[in-house]
Amino acid sequence: MSDRQELQNDETTNAKQVILPGATIGMVGGGQLGRMFAMAAARMGYRVGVFCGSSDEPAAEVAAFTVCGPLTDHSAIEAFAKRCDVITLEFENIPADTIAACGKHAPTYPDASVLAMAQDRWTEKTTLREAGIPVAGFEPVYDRESAIAAGDLLGWPIIVKTCRSGYDGKGQHRLNSPDDAATVEWAGAEGGEDCQPPWVAEALVPFEREASVIVARTLDQRVETFPVFENDHQNHILDETKLPAEVSSEMQAQAREIAMRVAERVGLVGLLCVELFVTEDALIVNEVAPRPHNSGHVTIEACATSQFEQHVRAICGLPLGDTSMVVPAASMLNLLGDLWQAAEARNASPNWEACLETPGVALHLYGKHAAPAGRKMGHLTAVGDDLPEVSQRLHLARERLLSELG
Ligand code: AMP
Repeated sequence: MSDRQELQNDETTNAKQVILPGATIGMVGGGQLGRMFAMAAARMGYRVGVFCGSSDEPAAEVAAFTVCGPLTDHSAIEAFAKRCDVITLEFENIPADTIAACGKHAPTYPDASVLAMAQDRWTEKTTLREAGIPVAGFEPVYDRESAIAAGDLLGWPIIVKTCRSGYDGKGQHRLNSPDDAATVEWAGAEGGEDCQPPWVAEALVPFEREASVIVARTLDQRVETFPVFENDHQNHILDETKLPAEVSSEMQAQAREIAMRVAERVGLVGLLCVELFVTEDALIVNEVAPRPHNSGHVTIEACATSQFEQHVRAICGLPLGDTSMVVPAASMLNLLGDLWQAAEARNASPNWEACLETPGVALHLYGKHAAPAGRKMGHLTAVGDDLPEVSQRLHLARERLLSELG
């Protein structure tokens, strides 16, 4: 570990390191989170350099400069990192070695250890459980037999998830009974039971709703959370985020407390999202992501400071922004590739004019060139006084994307 990283990780130094506007922020990853981060940072007077696979990725299109190449290419990492005053990332599956290599040239937040925790569900769940954070019961799974043993221990049904690289429900199986274990291809257990498990089995949580909380933390340990978001998923992919969440104020305070505890436990510098299940009387953490989050897009219009601005402030050591809502109610709806496909089936494009005729609707498109089903292409946000009205108006705006097509 470099001296610089040792300093970053040393909480006792209470280090304060301010990176002022005019400086260059490096963003590893070229997706929509990087794009919206770069736009917020540019507004605040920073230059943003993006390190990503190709120059047509969403963040590359709005960056001051890009370095394109495989994220594991050490000469590309060096060429990128040398130009940056501070470096951050926009998705957690970036190789931890890349982040460690960036850290030799500039402070890099979050650091490789936070990333390694979030990259592997087993490590993540174990870390959370050891910190006393409520998580669903879980057991390691290596093969069919251990899946059945896990179900017998946890109680059927169970959800089995790949420990690495799964997102938006990918790599997940619900097993209702031992018989279902025969339907899964249990690949990836070569290392045997002494190694990190390739799968984790979780007890099914009987949740009433899903929620998330975003927390920001600085190197000198200042911390701030956003209000709790309420999330609706379709086919395991986030569909709508509503603010304020229909969750009691006691539970909201608890959720924000949990997020702060997670951030402190892992020594976060930057932004972290905690996804939660809300049951009748408890909060259970599903997963954490040390980066801006899809559910936080609503903050752009709904809060005094957006999640992206807060991310900039956190990694630059600036005062953290006011996270309170500036409107009584807000909602965000994702636009998936399915919409483009439905329009294309009618030889048309989504009807942007009809959508934007809806009063008070903000359009965000990520500049992606291909629109396969399930791909996040953009989102819509609306604000107002009354959440049901806001949500209804927003759904109408999305439906209008497919109206009057040829
Ligand atoms: P994940 O990929 O872990 O975020 O899971 C995607 C979605 O699957 C979640 O948002 C839930 O809707 C559902 N899900 C995941 N794990 C569980 C669980 N243990 N109990 C109930 N539903 C779950």
